[in-house]
Amino acid sequence: MKYISTRSKIKPITSAEAILQGLAPDGGLFVPEKIPKVKLDEIDALKEKSYEEISAWLLGKYLTDYTADELGECAELAYNWFDVHARVPVSILIQDPSNPVAPVGNMELWHGPTSAFKDVALQMLPHLMRMALQKVGETKKILILVATSGDTGKAALAGFADVPQTKIMVFYPEDGVSKIQRLQMVTQAGDNVNVTAVRGNFDDAQTGVKKIFGDKKIRAELDKLGVKLSSANSINWGRLVPQIAYYFSGYVELVKANQIQLGDKIIISVPTGNFGNILAAYYALKMGLPVKKLICASNMNNVLTEFFATGTYNRKREFYKTITPSMDILISSNLERLLYHESGGDFRQINRYMGELNSRGKYTVDKSLKSRLDKIFHAEYVSEDDTRLFIKRIYDSFKYLIDTHTAVSICALSKYSGRTNDLTPVLNASTASPYKFTGAVLEALEKSAEGVDDLDQLALLNKVTNSKIPKNLAALSAAQILHSDVCDKDEMPERVLKFAAK
Ligand SMILES: *Cc1c(COP(=O)(O)O)cnc(C)c1O
Repeated sequence: MKYISTRSKIKPITSAEAILQGLAPDGGLFVPEKIPKVKLDEIDALKEKSYEEISAWLLGKYLTDYTADELGECAELAYNWFDVHARVPVSILIQDPSNPVAPVGNMELWHGPTSAFKDVALQMLPHLMRMALQKVGETKKILILVATSGDTGKAALAGFADVPQTKIMVFYPEDGVSKIQRLQMVTQAGDNVNVTAVRGNFDDAQTGVKKIFGDKKIRAELDKLGVKLSSANSINWGRLVPQIAYYFSGYVELVKANQIQLGDKIIISVPTGNFGNILAAYYALKMGLPVKKLICASNMNNVLTEFFATGTYNRKREFYKTITPSMDILISSNLERLLYHESGGDFRQINRYMGELNSRGKYTVDKSLKSRLDKIFHAEYVSEDDTRLFIKRIYDSFKYLIDTHTAVSICALSKYSGRTNDLTPVLNASTASPYKFTGAVLEALEKSAEGVDDLDQLALLNKVTNSKIPKNLAALSAAQILHSDVCDKDEMPERVLKFAAK
């Protein structure tokens, strides 16, 4: 399997090269030349496999320049750290078949070392990169640059800390992440890590990082320092591909729990920001996983809801800071891959759309592309009040605690079934532990967290709900703060060069 760019005709490259480069030289994203197909009996056989085995199996479909042994090793090393044996368990929230509401399998993607779904990919990526360096005979150091809206940063730091031949630098919006997310990042140990706050929002940080990637002068200076840039953002193919696996495992979990039979179609709902997680679900669908609809759930930053409703993507709009900060995004980078595939690989068209997005802040897809998207996607956005309401409702009904992002996608689902009366069983992507967003979760449960310190909120939520505090979060109160750098977005290039030279 070779990889090509979404924006122009480039010489196809191997997956190891695509993973090391992150972004294509023309500014596009790497995509597989074609999407591999999977038959139902192959899905059936996954019932007997561990999560690690399912992961290695899925990776083998796309990363054909890695051996099965290498992929098995990557999966073992990545998921070793997860705090439950199932790695990605599915909790069934509605089991009563006479209940006129479809069963919801809540796929818990947050049992990794930082309690958010990004661990699933970011515990894997460093190992894929380390092996890729060997494969292409690269002797330079790789510098991973990350712009984060919160969870990516810590998950990437945890994945790359002290991995040989790598350095990692994380930029986060100074006021755009939760206190716990910030603490998780600024307490990260490791000789090869740097964490810097940017004055601005997530898009400022992400645009800054993208500019550095596109800047030939900076690249040349880094080259002199023996350093090559790469990304761990969800635009990197090595970030995306490990995520496809859990849609297969989640499906199989629903079969094993007797919620569906093999071959039955399901609905998948995903709380969406940069469009990476839901894009992985799209790849699973295209590969042959029986999926009827993908629900793209957004918060008040509803640029994607509007896009799927109208065909116009317009990033010129007010930016809201919400209780789902990991979805506070106006430019969903991975959407480009979807448009590429659904336009039948028409890179000229994609290039035009992305050019318009850059110059005019918006673009409109043509009618035939729009109608193809309509067949697969349904989009909804959710208010802050409804987000809190669903945390409370799910807790009251099932004594099951969800975080704000998970509440957005469950609420979007209920809006969808309200509109359509569709009772197809559901797999919901649950993306963070409720303990990462204690303030908003406590408020939703009508327990005042006002004036309570962030770390004390962990204990309070534990007391109120009697659920378990993830180990890594419980350890935060004793951890030392190691990073306090802050910069303006224009200063990002010089900060990068300084850290690269260190
Ligand atoms: C990153 C993140 C999302 C959004 O995922 P995308 O792949 O960026 O769409 C949703 N919820 C949480 C908790 C996240 O960390």
